[in-house]
Amino acid sequence: MTTDLDFDRDHLWHPYTSTSKPLPTFPVASAKGVRLTLEDGRELVDGMSSWWAAVHGYNHPVLNQAAKDQIDRMAHVMFGGLTHEPAVELGKKLVALTPEPLQKVFLADSGSVSVEVAIKMALQFWLSQGHTGKDKLLALRNGYHGDTFGAMAACDPVNGMHSLFSGVLAQHHFAEAPQSPFDGPLDPADVTAVRTQLEQHGDEIAAIILEPVVQGAGGMRIYSPQYLKAVRALCDEFNVLLIFDEIATGFGRTGKLFALEHAGVCPDILCLGKAITGGYMTLAAALCTDRVAAGICEGEAGVLMHGPTFMGNPLACAVANASIQLLQDSDWEARVAAIEAQLKAELLPLKQCDSVADARVLGAIGVMEMQQPVAMEEVQKTFVEQGVWIRPFGKLVYIMPPFVIEPADLSKLIAAMRDLAERS
Ligand SMILES: *Cc1c(COP(=O)(O)O)cnc(C)c1O
Repeated sequence: MTTDLDFDRDHLWHPYTSTSKPLPTFPVASAKGVRLTLEDGRELVDGMSSWWAAVHGYNHPVLNQAAKDQIDRMAHVMFGGLTHEPAVELGKKLVALTPEPLQKVFLADSGSVSVEVAIKMALQFWLSQGHTGKDKLLALRNGYHGDTFGAMAACDPVNGMHSLFSGVLAQHHFAEAPQSPFDGPLDPADVTAVRTQLEQHGDEIAAIILEPVVQGAGGMRIYSPQYLKAVRALCDEFNVLLIFDEIATGFGRTGKLFALEHAGVCPDILCLGKAITGGYMTLAAALCTDRVAAGICEGEAGVLMHGPTFMGNPLACAVANASIQLLQDSDWEARVAAIEAQLKAELLPLKQCDSVADARVLGAIGVMEMQQPVAMEEVQKTFVEQGVWIRPFGKLVYIMPPFVIEPADLSKLIAAMRDLAERS
């Protein structure tokens, strides 16, 4: 069987693509472990984990079995008025693994939707308390929170891919992205930037939303966990809720199970997604504290106003349960630490190349920021010829491989990045 690439080009949208000037797509026949097999037989070492998700690699027998077992029971039932073991089991796991105050779980169908739910929780919480004016967010420059309209409004308003829509998006407040390095001291200016916004607009701010420690699609920036402590204190001082978007960072990627553990800080609302099913199915979650839940439910509405059709999908929950169990039963901490050490040894030296503006590493994330945006089509083609799957974005060439990657395969990914740096 071969994919009809002409049809693909003429009829299918891919993420952020043009149908008038489509870029080539590469047909994948199968995937196993860290390897994608193209239809022409070529094998690519996967550096992307399909956007942070496939932490165990592809086609994992344990996850396959979990999906098969569940599909023979039921693929889906509505969550309105019904419940099931996979959802309850997942709820238990998420409540147990996240900080103790996070007790209530909303199972959403994608990361963006979980962000919508988190925003709705925050707005409803203040409405219920009679604070009608608290209907804005404070978000960070370089932030990315998803592609739906509520989430888009919290993305960086300039580089956030959504500036086109600024006229129709909710207008929120933004603070400069933190500059303090991961290991370095906290720059007081980072905190002042948030304090200034809260002093000026605190009365209308329902919540601060941010990606803890690593800003993903908005710049692949890594910053000091100390910043999170300072922001938590400011939230308490100014009566503002704190939302952490761990859709990218959750489930081990930064070296901790959740990035918030680098700081020991608990948000009021936490969004999870991407790796939650090990990259098998679309599923996400928004967790909140008892205080937030009670606040919402004591209000006039009396309920949280959200309920997607595929909420709590049993198939996705069953795979998520298997994936989380697999992660916990594995030596993921040692694996991520080894990936981090190798990235530091082999990727960071690329900083010396003239074409490279910066290289940075945290956990199983390696970033090479170029001086100039990369020529996508040509670079992508070369990477495929070199046997690696790395998907650059603007000036950013980055990898976040499956945790099961072997050192030789990781070296192959980094060598392709080095080759690009040297020929640019
Ligand atoms: C990917 C991502 C989202 C959006 O998740 P989708 O599943 O693509 O809707 C939101 N926030 C962050 C930090 C992400 O990385």
